[in-house]
Amino acid sequence: MTKKISIIGIGLIGSSIARAYRALESNIEINIIDKSISNLEKGKLNKLGNSFSEKVDSKIEGSDLVFICTPISAYENIFKKLNTLILSNSIITDVGSSKCKVIDLAEKILVNKVFVPGHPIAGTEKSGPENGFKDLFKDRWFISTYCKLCDDENINFVNSVWASFGSKTVTMKSKDHDSIMAITSHIPHLIAYNIVGTASGLEENIKSEVIKFSASGFRDFTRIASSDPTMWRDIMLSNKEEIIALIEKFNRDIKETLDAIKSDNGKFLFEKFKKTKEIREKIIEAGLDKF
Ligand code: NAP
Repeated sequence: MTKKISIIGIGLIGSSIARAYRALESNIEINIIDKSISNLEKGKLNKLGNSFSEKVDSKIEGSDLVFICTPISAYENIFKKLNTLILSNSIITDVGSSKCKVIDLAEKILVNKVFVPGHPIAGTEKSGPENGFKDLFKDRWFISTYCKLCDDENINFVNSVWASFGSKTVTMKSKDHDSIMAITSHIPHLIAYNIVGTASGLEENIKSEVIKFSASGFRDFTRIASSDPTMWRDIMLSNKEEIIALIEKFNRDIKETLDAIKSDNGKFLFEKFKKTKEIREKIIEAGLDKF
């Protein structure tokens, strides 16, 4: 049974972990660290933890699990600070949305520490502890990945924690994780940021009409493009090889579509749109359209 955990970063994901744990084990001791005083205050107000601090310090020692739930650009300093603590009976884990760069960093910095890389495929476009909820991870995937700082037993333990939150769990190579996330999450966000960016660069009179008629597709892009800019800057930079390769492929596909439009090639357009409709039907068939 887990007696004490530490959560570094009490935002959407960190606060949802605290809530999920509280619902499962009311006696668990939860130590919360965040650089944002206002988020720490919100954490206190919502009774998310037993202790709260602005810095990674020795209060973390004695934790069974240490969850890193900050943007990825904060990891280097956090790993360095964790490395100075006695964490011989602790497992450090994280929730970051890219894995290869995170693992490189962890393997470079952490000495004699256990680190299990993790990523819950759950979230919303909102940030902060006020937006977290205990069932955020229910029926969603949690992906752990292999690395040199953990063994199967450590991975199984972390997977079992996420399974207790209601997640379906799977373990894979970090490279596979980053390739899959690039196409299913990172590129869609990049496209949303760009399409909304293009709209915001239109002339004023057209821009107000775009907002008025946004229900016809654009609105869905604005929801995705309202995701936290710090978090998404870090994801784009930390998974850049996969993202660059896919954007290059995407540009070639867009060029092909553009050429088809220019040459009135309706057959090409129809076949392309038919194929993509089939992908949507497969997602519905798998029951994955509800989230
Ligand atoms: P969030 O709501 O913005 O929360 C992050 C919290 O970490 C904020 O309170 C932030 O403070 C704090 N923080 C930043 N740097 C810190 C540091 N050096 N030390 C301590 N605290 C620090 O973000 P989130 O949505 O929970 O995302 C957190 C992580 O989860 C990211 O790595 C992301 O890739 C991953 N993730 C997110 C989602 C999602 O949909 N949101 C899904 C899966 C995984 P400030 O507000 O002052 O910066």
